[in-house]
Amino acid sequence: MIRPTSRMHSGAETPGSRLRVAVVGGGLCGLTLGVVLSRSGQVDVQMFESAARFGELGAGVTIGSNAVVALQRLGLLDNVCTHTRQKPHTSKISYAMDHGEKDSVTPISSVPYSHPPGDLSISRTAFLDSLVPLFPHRLAHFKKRCLDVTHSPSDNVYRVHFTDGTFYDADLVIGADGIRSTVRRVMFQPGELRQTELGKTEYSPSLGSLDEDKHLSFSGSTIYRAVVPSLLLRRKGVKMDFQKMLITLGPGSNHIFSVPICNGTMINMVAYSHDFSQSTTSGHRRPPLPYPWTRRDISLDEISDHFQGWGDDVQNMLGSMGDYTSAWDLHLLDPGLDTYSRGNIVLVGDAAHAMTPHMGAGVGQGIEDVFLLARLLIDPRTNHKNISTVMQVYDQVRRPRANWVLEQSTQMGRLYACVGPDSPPGELEAMLKGYEEIFSRVQEYDVEKDAEAATMLLERQGVYA
Ligand SMILES: Cc1cc2nc3c(=O)[nH]c(=O)nc-3n(C[C@H](O)[C@H](O)[C@H](O)COP(=O)(O)OP(=O)(O)OC[C@H]3O[C@@H](n4cnc5c(N)ncnc54)[C@H](O)[C@@H]3O)c2cc1C
Repeated sequence: MIRPTSRMHSGAETPGSRLRVAVVGGGLCGLTLGVVLSRSGQVDVQMFESAARFGELGAGVTIGSNAVVALQRLGLLDNVCTHTRQKPHTSKISYAMDHGEKDSVTPISSVPYSHPPGDLSISRTAFLDSLVPLFPHRLAHFKKRCLDVTHSPSDNVYRVHFTDGTFYDADLVIGADGIRSTVRRVMFQPGELRQTELGKTEYSPSLGSLDEDKHLSFSGSTIYRAVVPSLLLRRKGVKMDFQKMLITLGPGSNHIFSVPICNGTMINMVAYSHDFSQSTTSGHRRPPLPYPWTRRDISLDEISDHFQGWGDDVQNMLGSMGDYTSAWDLHLLDPGLDTYSRGNIVLVGDAAHAMTPHMGAGVGQGIEDVFLLARLLIDPRTNHKNISTVMQVYDQVRRPRANWVLEQSTQMGRLYACVGPDSPPGELEAMLKGYEEIFSRVQEYDVEKDAEAATMLLERQGVYA
């Protein structure tokens, strides 16, 4: 049994007082949201992060043009560009086929990936580091792992409970706590949210284990991931054009993705090993694997085992991953959620729509969430009385698009696994044609449309006068 030892924040709502917003999770999405909300001064935002500090992996991330536009509209793009020393540029994804013979990787075709103003392929750490100085330190609370959220109906307070026995009382709880989100599990508990009598000192959490999260699924894919200096690839004699965003297909069901980051000095490499034999389509969910889903002690033999029969050039490329490599079992939300909000609890980023990385769109969808949520929370017409309706509208506007991107990403991974050097003529071309349309729907998107749609709905409902 856990005894709350201190009340981290107090103060009941008084008319006209600012909304108390608890952001649970300080990853790329939570921190972006925290920065925008704290800058606005419209709400009282506090962030709770389970780790001892903000932190990201050394890996790279591609911020699609839709998210670049959102960052621009949030007033953060210049800062990210200055910090990462990169500017957005439009890119294409090039496809190549390994025919399994010596040095026989042949280019196939390319499809436009991003649209003006372009995408940013950057280091995750640099992206996060560009945001950290913008978030007031006093609003960030570290080593605060959320355990549960309970509701006090008499004053409509949502209490966030932490594993150290402390708690925080909020008017709105935002789950930005990633794919294994605790806030999501609270939201999808059957029945009413558990109620807390404020002031009562004893509390025991009711949440089940991660295995009981009915949305979390293993994708069937494991990836080997490394950021490798371009110089090393050159030294290894790799002939493929790794200075492009490149997907190499080949014998069997696996494939390799690579993209230059840090102005081309480093290459972000991801080697995919797929096993879809018992894997996941909606309705046939594959349960999550035991946690943790990452390993760091990866031998080169383990990686090349998955690429037996591939040509020398690919073997040289994989051979450069060595010490830099980690393995990840990819998970996703399948089926997609049927709501992103419940009462005054709302989800953003991977907590809402964790997807496979085949479209490089996960952060982008999270930043779109952040844009709309921030717009709605900063709107002076949003208040204690209408906040749950405003959050329903956030769900109504964001969920169809983000769940669609999630679904497309799953399908894309499955198609990559089906196409190889022996595929019938025309199959590949048809696949790429379809991708061009999908990428364009994802990337050529201005989030301002979402804000307009949400505002119109709220005005029509009479929520916004
Ligand atoms: C291999 C791979 C490649 C990818 N490449 C791309 C790409 O190129 N482009 C792209 O757009 N997306 C990409 N993605 C997806 C992208 O990484 C995610 O969508 C993104 O990181 C999600 O950010 P987030 O802030 O929602 O969650 P996270 O980054 O997971 O952050 C969650 C935070 O919450 C904290 N937390 C967790 N639980 C609790 C708790 N109970 N209490 C308090 N704090 C908690 C964690 O410590 C963490 O700091 C990729 C994903 C993978 C796996």
